[in-house]
Amino acid sequence: MQYHTPASFEDASKIAAKATGITRFLAGGTDVLVQLRADIVTPDTLIDIKHIDGVHDITRNSDGGWTIGVAVTGAEMTEHADLGGDWPGLVEAMDLVGSTQIQGRATLTGNLCNGSPAADSVPAMIAAGATVTVSGPNGTREVAAEDIATGPGRTSLAQGEIVTAVNIPPRAAGGGDAYLRFIPRTEMDIAVVGCGINLAVDGDTITAARVVLGAVAPTALLDQACADAIIGSTLDDAALEKLAAAASAACNPITDKRGTIEFRTKVAGVLARRVAKIAYERAQAGGAS
Ligand SMILES: Cc1cc2nc3c(=O)[nH]c(=O)nc-3n(C[C@H](O)[C@H](O)[C@H](O)COP(=O)(O)OP(=O)(O)OC[C@H]3O[C@@H](n4cnc5c(N)ncnc54)[C@H](O)[C@@H]3O)c2cc1C
Repeated sequence: MQYHTPASFEDASKIAAKATGITRFLAGGTDVLVQLRADIVTPDTLIDIKHIDGVHDITRNSDGGWTIGVAVTGAEMTEHADLGGDWPGLVEAMDLVGSTQIQGRATLTGNLCNGSPAADSVPAMIAAGATVTVSGPNGTREVAAEDIATGPGRTSLAQGEIVTAVNIPPRAAGGGDAYLRFIPRTEMDIAVVGCGINLAVDGDTITAARVVLGAVAPTALLDQACADAIIGSTLDDAALEKLAAAASAACNPITDKRGTIEFRTKVAGVLARRVAKIAYERAQAGGAS
């Protein structure tokens, strides 16, 4: 195995572009090293990206949006009060990843690029309208978070392409987000269903919403029918009923040891209702609660 510690994204991309066999970028390593030690994936080329300038930074941009470096850990996000003030749902989703030890290493970018359908931060990122900056041999492009994973363990990134930043839009006035997951025990488990919702209100009326379900399909699902169920409503019982029905209808899950198709389908509706209520309260309060 070849281990590289490039000092720039350009060098990292060049190494990845030339590499043969299996290549992995090493951010926190909480997926890569576990897969390596379990003989699931043994990379021929391991590119440690933690020595590149800026990768540990969380920056508020001039437009009020955020740039999150690709080596920023879950713990660093949780400790950043202003980021959590704008995007509590995103931060709480990342905070659910693993344990205190995992939180000290795991990154948003790694969670996204590992391609797990059950990745906790991914529904919240998509709900937030996050994009990632991708650099590679053919230049740089901005990719919506929902367009990165293409199936379990697979991404749309071409050989030599690397995510160089996660971009979170400005928090609009009257906006709020939330994320919840169901797991069979209280912590340290993989989501049976996850749900992230970001919405905006004008007075009591919901004017915009993005509803995303995790762990109920090969990739996280951004579902317009779920959004339509609550846009224009005051999140009354009828709207919540419609949302729950739309969430269950959107599911295309599998049965595994954590839950059956029927269970996941039911839980998706229950979680969507709960998450919508939290996001709505936060939107009305104008921030985190
Ligand atoms: C004990 C334990 C508990 C866990 N619990 C959870 C949980 O509750 N919820 C959950 O969602 N996950 C969980 N995970 C999985 C893991 O911690 C997360 O997916 C984590 O966010 C991965 O981030 P990382 O920085 O460690 O990624 P790494 O392991 O460094 O990388 C993961 C993947 O992303 C790619 N990658 C990394 N950086 C880039 C980049 N800049 N550009 C392109 N590709 C890149 C790598 O090539 C690799 O394929 C757990 C893992 C462990 C070991």
